[in-house]
Amino acid sequence: MAIFLGSDIFRGSGYGPGHPLNIPRVWPVIDICRAQGWLRDEQFEMVPPATVQELECFHTRDYINALLDAEQNQQLDEIRSKKHKIGTYSNPIYPEIYRRPATAAKASLQGALYLISGKHSRVFNPSGGTHHGFPDSANGFCFVNDPAIALTTLYQRTSKKIAYIDIDAHHPDGVQEHFSHLDRMILFSVHEADRWPRTGKKGDFGGGNAHNYPLPRGSNDEDLKEIINTQILPLLVAFSPDFIVLQAGADGLDEDPQSGLCYTNRGYWLTVSTILELNIPILVLGGGGYNPFTTARAWAGVWGLMVGENPHATECVSESRSILKSLKFPHRLGKNIPDRWISRLFD
Ligand SMILES: [Zn+2]
Repeated sequence: MAIFLGSDIFRGSGYGPGHPLNIPRVWPVIDICRAQGWLRDEQFEMVPPATVQELECFHTRDYINALLDAEQNQQLDEIRSKKHKIGTYSNPIYPEIYRRPATAAKASLQGALYLISGKHSRVFNPSGGTHHGFPDSANGFCFVNDPAIALTTLYQRTSKKIAYIDIDAHHPDGVQEHFSHLDRMILFSVHEADRWPRTGKKGDFGGGNAHNYPLPRGSNDEDLKEIINTQILPLLVAFSPDFIVLQAGADGLDEDPQSGLCYTNRGYWLTVSTILELNIPILVLGGGGYNPFTTARAWAGVWGLMVGENPHATECVSESRSILKSLKFPHRLGKNIPDRWISRLFD
């Protein structure tokens, strides 16, 4: 059975005015999935924030303490702020700076445990996918590296093979640095070339097991499909993983303000369904996604695919249209929202 992991902390909390992540991202996905009839109560589970001990499987105690202090005091001393990159433009101090990323991390940890126990073979955590985080510092809007926590859990608690696939527009530098040298692990990333963090160039194998496929600005569904079918799938099938962690960042979709890639959600969903069809126990994470309309539709469709629905051919019910209509997008302030972002689920 598939399980969707979430929390109410993603309703109403945000990174603060002016930040690209100050948009609704997780709750619209939950609400649209419910409105579409794709998410039954027994398929949804609330998770609490991860404990300090749970985060310590990847992060340093000093760094976690700094996050806790920043949340409690809403400020951090200069020395620790600099050391841990907390309180910068990218990684601002906000009211839930510990609890929110710790909750996303708990969902990824719980998801990994479900795959190991076999209780669920498909787990969705759209709040996860924060792949830039480092053990001792925040990086690129990511405070806690939840994919790293899931990968560490799968790697340390089993002797099985794990594949990490990342289709976010940005290269997963935090994941590559810490997992690409491990046996029983293979990493794939398709991302925009010459885009921050500018790592993951063609021919960069990290510690040996990373495979990077940078795509030029303007690349579309066909370019993505070609990389998936001719490059990634053959290696993935030959590796024959027991578990897959898929970081399904939605910022490669056309009209996302943080990338120059031009996928439609049909091409993005095709990638996800190609990987789901391998029928390997899988944890699917969110990631980037800075246009609330394209992100909500993309991730609702991902869950639809995980439970056997066909978002390509599904009518967007009026309640889903109302949810989409209600989303605020400061980046487009004063401009009309195109009808295609709210009247249907597929591009
Ligand atoms: Zn991204």
